[in-house]
Amino acid sequence: PEWYSPETGIYSSKHPPIPLPADPFLDVVSFIFSHHNHNGLTALIDSSSGFSISYSKILPLVKSVASGLSNMGIKQGDVVLLLLPNSIHFPIVFLGVLYLGGIVSTMNPLSSELEVKQRIIDCNACIAFVELEKVGKFQPLGIPVIGVPENVNLDEKSNDFEAFYTLVYSKGDVGVKPVIRQQDTAAIMYSSGTTAASKGVVLTHRNFISMVEHFVKFEASQYEYSSTDNVYLAVLPMFHIYGLSLFVAGLLCLGSSIVVMRKFDVSEMVKVIDRYGVTHFPVVPPILTALTRTAKGVCGNSLKCLKLVSCGAAPLFGKTIQDFVEVLPHVDFIQGYGLTESTAVGTRGLNTEKFQKYSSIGLLAPNIEAKVVDWSTGALLPPGGCGELWIRGPGVMKEYLNDGEATALTIDKDGWLHTGDVVYADHDGYLYVVDRLKEIIKYKGFQIAPADLEAVLISHCEILDAAVIPVVDKECGEIPVAFVVKRQGSMLTQEAIINYVAEQVAPYKKVRKVIFTRSIPKSAAGKILRRELRRSLTSKL
Ligand code: AMP
Repeated sequence: PEWYSPETGIYSSKHPPIPLPADPFLDVVSFIFSHHNHNGLTALIDSSSGFSISYSKILPLVKSVASGLSNMGIKQGDVVLLLLPNSIHFPIVFLGVLYLGGIVSTMNPLSSELEVKQRIIDCNACIAFVELEKVGKFQPLGIPVIGVPENVNLDEKSNDFEAFYTLVYSKGDVGVKPVIRQQDTAAIMYSSGTTAASKGVVLTHRNFISMVEHFVKFEASQYEYSSTDNVYLAVLPMFHIYGLSLFVAGLLCLGSSIVVMRKFDVSEMVKVIDRYGVTHFPVVPPILTALTRTAKGVCGNSLKCLKLVSCGAAPLFGKTIQDFVEVLPHVDFIQGYGLTESTAVGTRGLNTEKFQKYSSIGLLAPNIEAKVVDWSTGALLPPGGCGELWIRGPGVMKEYLNDGEATALTIDKDGWLHTGDVVYADHDGYLYVVDRLKEIIKYKGFQIAPADLEAVLISHCEILDAAVIPVVDKECGEIPVAFVVKRQGSMLTQEAIINYVAEQVAPYKKVRKVIFTRSIPKSAAGKILRRELRRSLTSKL
C-alpha cells in the first residue's frame, strides 16, 4: 500500500499533511485565538451550577490572569503549578499563564503533600493554584498558593476568593507582551515513559500548536455539520494530557460548547447529558463501562442527543465495546491513542458508521509517521507484524526534564519516540494495541509508575525489597500489586503495607494487593524481571 514503504519500514498517515505555521515567534494562546471559529455563544458551562463563560469573554479573562500574575511578580519562564480539578476556570488559568510566557505544570489535586513537595522541587514551581478549601493544607509548601473557588458567582464577591477574583476579573492586560517562540516550553506534564519513576515531559508551544492544528483541521473535516453546534462533556480530568488537549486547547478553536463536570458521578452524568444536550463524550474505559450499564436502564429520549463517544488512554476489552454499541446503537464509537510524550497526538478512529473497526485505535493522525519494530531483533515489520510502535511528528515532546539519559532512551537520534506499546497494522492501515512493553500501570486511565510505589515501599524500615506490577481488573483496567520482601522476623501485614503506601500517595495510586516473597527476580544488571513476576502471579491466581 502507498502508506507503507518496505524500503524504509515507515508507515505514513493516510491523511494529507497539515501545514503548520512557520513563524518562529508564535505562542499557542495567540494561535488558538487567531483561529477562534465560534458562534459567540457559550464556551464553558459548569454542569452543576450552570455558571458559564461565553466565547467573547475568554480572551479578556486570559489576559486578566496574565496581567494579575505579572503584577504578582511572575515572569516569563516561571513555572506555575495547577493542582486543580475540572472547572470552567481551569482553561482560563492555564491559558493565562501561557499568555504571559509562563510554564504550567498540572497535577492531580488528590496528590499527597509529599508528592506535591517533590513536584515543586522537581519542576521548580514558584506559585500554585489549589482548591479554595485546600489553601490551608498547602500553605506550608513554601510557595504562594491561590485558592480557586468551586463556583464563582460574580454577584457575590467574597473575601475568601479575593486573590482569585482579582486575578481573573481585574480586566487587566500585560503591558508589553513577552516575545514567545514556538520552541519555548509551555508545559511540564508528568509521565514515567517506558521505564523508572515519573519524569517531567517538556512540551513546547510548537507541540501544542501542532496538536491544536491537527485537532482543528482533522476534527472539523469529520463533521457534516458545524462544529459550533457540538456540545462536549468534559469529565476527563484537565490535568491529564487527554483532557487538557481537548477541553483546554483544541475545542476552544472549534467553537463547541464544553459542559464541565467537576468529578465523575454516574447518575449525574446521564442527567447532565440530557440537560445540556451533550453530543460528544470523550471517555476512558471505566466510564464507558459505567455509561453502558446506566444506559441499559434509561427510557424515553434519555441519551438520544449523544452522537459520538470516543475512548482512549487505556486498553479496552472487546466485550466492553460490543456491549456499548449494542446498548446505544445510534451513537458512533471510536478509539484514539496518544501519550503525554506526544502531546496526546497519535492515532484516531474515523467515523465508524462506515468502518466499524471498533477495537482499532484508528489511523495515524496527520503529520505522524510510524515504525513497527521487533523489540528483540530490531527488524522493521510490515502490516500484520506485531512490534513496538515508534512514532515521529511535531507533537513529540522536546525532552524529559533534567534527564538526558531517559530522553536519549526514549527519542532516538532520528526523532522516533519509542512508545513502549505493542501494536500491529491491518491491511487498511488501522492500528491495534495488543500489549505493553513498558512498566506503567493504567488505573482507570491514570498512569501509575511502579518505580514511584517501589520507592515508597522500600522507605519502610521493615521492607528489604519490593516490586510492583499491574494486574488486569475488570472495573479499573489494571491495579497495582506489590511483591514485598520483609526483614527477617517482621510481623508486617498486607493491610499495614497498603495503609503505609496509601498515606503517602494520591488515592488512585494505592497498592491494592500485597504478595510476600523471599526475593525479587532481577537481571544481572539489577533490573526487576517484571515479566517473571507477572508469570508467577498468573500461576498463583
Ligand atoms: P499517558 O501518557 O498517560 O496518556 O499514557 C499513554 C499510554 O496509555 C500509551 O503509551 C498506552 O500504553 C496507553 N494508551 C493510550 N491510549 C490507548 C488506547 N486507545 N488503547 C490502549 N492503550 C492506550
